[in-house]
Parts: sequence; C-alpha cells; structure tokens
Amino acid sequence: MPEKNPFEEEQEQEVKEAEVVESEDSASEDNQSVEKSNQPVEKKKSKIDQILDTMDEELEKQVGVSTGQFGDSFSRYPIPRAKFNEGVKERIAVLTTSVVFVKLHYHEETGYFFCFEARCCDILGLPTTRAVIPIIRYDSDKRGKPVSKEFTVEVLRVGQSVYDNLMTIHDLRQDEGGSITEADILVTCNDEQYQDITFNVAGKALWRRDKGMAKEVINYWKDNKKHLTEGLGRRLNEEDMLIALGYDGGQQAPPQQAPGDVNFEDEFN
Ligand SMILES: [Zn+2]
Repeated sequence: MPEKNPFEEEQEQEVKEAEVVESEDSASEDNQSVEKSNQPVEKKKSKIDQILDTMDEELEKQVGVSTGQFGDSFSRYPIPRAKFNEGVKERIAVLTTSVVFVKLHYHEETGYFFCFEARCCDILGLPTTRAVIPIIRYDSDKRGKPVSKEFTVEVLRVGQSVYDNLMTIHDLRQDEGGSITEADILVTCNDEQYQDITFNVAGKALWRRDKGMAKEVINYWKDNKKHLTEGLGRRLNEEDMLIALGYDGGQQAPPQQAPGDVNFEDEFN
C-alpha cells in the first residue's frame, strides 16, 4: 500500500455501506406532520394488520433497537458518511460551523481505522487527517431541487482541498455578516471514486425556514451527534491491528492464508 498524503482523496472500498441511507424515521408523506411520524399514516389497515403492526412503542424503548416499516433503509451507522454520485446534483446544508478533525490510517487488510497514536504510526506512517462536517442532504431531484421535506443527516468527510472550498464559501458569507450554515449548497460530484466534489451556494437554507424540518433536524442531531465519527473507520487497538496486519510478536508473520484458502471442510466438522 503506497503511503498517502494527508488529505489526499483516495480510493476506498470498505466504507460502501455508508452510502446514502434514510436512517432517521422521518415522515413518509410531504404533508405529514413531524410530531406524528411515529405512527405511520398510510392506507387504512385491516384490524389484523393494525394489531400485528403495532410493535413500535415497547421496542423503541430498548437500547440498540429501532423499528421501521418494510422498505425502510438501514445503515450500520446513525450518521452515515455522505457519498455523492456523478451526474446528480445534491442539495445539502452544513449544520454547524464546529468541525471535527480525525486521524485515520488505511490498510487494505483493515480498511480505515482511527489512529491510536502509537505503533500504527510506526508501521503505517503518518495518519491521514480529515475534516468531519455534519450536513443534511435534502430529498431532491437530479438537479438538486428539493422534492419533499425529507432529508438525511450525514457526515461529510473531506480532505484539504474540499475543506478549503467550503471555507471559501464560509468566508464569503461571513463578509456579508452571515455563515455557511445559513446557506443551502449544491454539490456536484466530478469523480465518484475519489469523491471529488465542488460546491455552489443555492440560496438560503430551506430547512431553517421550515419549522417542522428544523425541529426534526435538531432532535435528530441531539440524539445522534455522539455517533458523528462512527461511520468513518474502525476502532482498533494495537493488538487488533497487529493481528490484522499479519504481525506476530513484533515480527512480520509469514503471509497469512487468504480466507479463500481455508479448508471449509473443517468448518462443518
Ligand atoms: Zn497512528
């Protein structure tokens, strides 16, 4: 694995599950009020279905459990990483001017993992620094025009050049007495693999001017901000890392047997 420049936008394959997902239990109809989003308002259900489909309330109280309806998307992470596709403009808004910076290592055997400031750096070199910026992504058409009041809260993980572009927008807004958070931004993706994205200001932030959306965004953020960095990499300790990289007692182990070479007969005995 060649060493990477900090902030270089690199290829990544292991974080694919962080693709756009609807992880918040938002209302499914445009005009449906946010307050009622826990009770799906759909076509009239039969009595049997009404009974069978009512499992939400008790389950929702359990730690680690959330409920939904067939068809709802799911993610491993409460705040998935934002990914953009070529040929589709997306409308987003930056939620806060607070920025988190993370240090990550990448190895093909581990994928991204958080630097623990010890042997990871000795073995893999300096970690890659990324800025982590919470955003909302509007439910919009291919040109970035919102088509409903739905949205997803996601985390934008960016390197230096994309970060600089966002800072330019922020500086310009500040010159006018504003802030980047007051604007909606159109995102154009120039390269999916490297997530090379550029921005255009698209006017005032719609979500801030819609009471229902604002309430939903704030509640979601309060509940989930602690999960901001979870989708960005694994948490490995030194032992985990050494094992994953094939080291043993500080020595490089002989090349590990690839999973495909394992004798599966043994697994069934
Ligand atoms: Zn490190």
